Amino acid sequence: MVGPMSSFQKSIWVYGDYRNYFQNRVTLQLLARAVELAPNIDADVCAVIFGHRVDEYVGEYIAHGARKVYVIDHPDLKAYSTETHAALLTGLARRFSPEIILIGATDFGRELAPRVAKRLSTGLTADCIHLSIDDQGLLIQTAPGFGGNLLAKTVTPHCRPQMATVRPGTFQELPNNDDAEGDIVPVAMPEDMPPPRVRQVRSERIPRRAQRLEEAQIVVCGGRVMGSKTKFKKLFELARLLEGEVGATRPVVYSNWIAHDALVGQAGKHVSPQILFSFGVSGAIQHTAAITDADLIVAINKNPEAPMMKMADAAIVADANQVCSSLIRELKRRIRE
Ligand SMILES: Cc1cc2nc3c(=O)[nH]c(=O)nc-3n(C[C@H](O)[C@H](O)[C@H](O)COP(=O)(O)OP(=O)(O)OC[C@H]3O[C@@H](n4cnc5c(N)ncnc54)[C@H](O)[C@@H]3O)c2cc1C
Repeated sequence: MVGPMSSFQKSIWVYGDYRNYFQNRVTLQLLARAVELAPNIDADVCAVIFGHRVDEYVGEYIAHGARKVYVIDHPDLKAYSTETHAALLTGLARRFSPEIILIGATDFGRELAPRVAKRLSTGLTADCIHLSIDDQGLLIQTAPGFGGNLLAKTVTPHCRPQMATVRPGTFQELPNNDDAEGDIVPVAMPEDMPPPRVRQVRSERIPRRAQRLEEAQIVVCGGRVMGSKTKFKKLFELARLLEGEVGATRPVVYSNWIAHDALVGQAGKHVSPQILFSFGVSGAIQHTAAITDADLIVAINKNPEAPMMKMADAAIVADANQVCSSLIRELKRRIRE
């Protein structure tokens, strides 16, 4: 455990996750929330960043609310490594005793945070959708629990730091403030770092989606009954014709018909389109919890009693593949005319 409450100035740390920076703004969103929470416990808002040549991000963090940025800049940190970042963050936390550490619930953050929490012998609430401070100055970490059927509020009364991962899109980033000032604290790369057991051989950027699923105004979502990766591809064609984005249920993602970032639901993205087309989706709570903000839901399912059909504004009792093909044909015809 990281010692008892220190006599230092308290601090809230935000871990700087700058991969896919322009698409994934979770670090800036967490800084914004940290700025709101900090006065409640009289804390400084700090960012922590590990990498090589990261000045640009450091400046951004200050412009978005960080009053101090701890930086470890080293050529060995060019590639992201969970193992290395976990060791570095643990070391810094032991040295500076932050009150709270917030990490984005990105794929990387979800791997990193539990490792750090374990090493610091503290608690961690994963995938929070709300953060606040109670009247004793404790961080209330609110996250879906028990398969998404209830919201659990967790506090960490004894151990420090209090740690949470937070889903991207949960909070709004602050406007960029070019006049903001902050301290940059360069920290040397520890000399006794063990060589990482995992070495990055190659990295490949996944082609960028036309737009972010969370922000798309039309979402075409498909379930496992689409039948195969090839048949599922029809949904991409439909989405393209509608200028929308494709989402999927968990079995589809687990079958590798589409990348994990298309998962809609408790374990994936929250969507709020004007129109959501739902093809052969049963409507399990873990999925529907993330589509309640859609303005209009059109569901296609063979079973009129499926929960998705009950929830939909328009429920079409039909074969999902057939309706998808018919829509594609009709849209193409209209485009040709
Ligand atoms: C902790 C936890 C977290 C989870 N998180 C998520 C999550 O984030 N997102 C998510 O999606 N799931 C999640 N799940 C899984 C979720 O509970 C469901 O199992 C999943 O959403 C079901 O996917 P599906 O609708 O594609 O498949 P199924 O449940 O198999 O549903 C198939 C549907 O297709 C209909 N159908 C059958 N044939 C046709 C046809 N020819 N044409 C049209 N309709 C047809 C059926 O009537 C049925 O409604 C989670 C589960 C757990 C336990």
